[in-house]
Amino acid sequence: MTDRVVVAGAVLDEGRLLAARRSAPPELAGRWELPGGKLEQGETPPQALVRELREELGVETEPGERIPGEWPLAPGYVLQVWTARLVSGEPRPLEDHDELRWLYRHELDTVDWLDQDRPAVAEAARHLPGG
Ligand code: C5P
Repeated sequence: MTDRVVVAGAVLDEGRLLAARRSAPPELAGRWELPGGKLEQGETPPQALVRELREELGVETEPGERIPGEWPLAPGYVLQVWTARLVSGEPRPLEDHDELRWLYRHELDTVDWLDQDRPAVAEAARHLPGG
């Protein structure tokens, strides 16, 4: 059986990466992630990403390129990450998160990322100025 995909966005704006702090479930609350979620039936990962970022953050985004790699989550799920740019709106923590932060490259390790997101964040850093 193939794993189900969870897609997350490395949302980039003005040389910064968007980090989102989870408010649920209890075992993930307080940890930071790249916002996203599970694919629904018939969706491609970029379509799911646009929908999830609209639902969770209230913004319109345009997916860019896939960040190389795929990371295991709970059994049966894998995480894929795409870069995304803001098209309209200002991100707000509407669903699943209680705080958002824009991080410059030198600030990336100032938040407690979910373990499974760390390699993707390291890859996403290559898209930020300053190195
Ligand atoms: O947001 P949603 O609950 O749909 O995400 C599905 C699962 O994917 C969550 O249980 C979460 O653990 C995981 N996830 C993750 N890293 C992300 C986004 C989601 O580990 N950046």
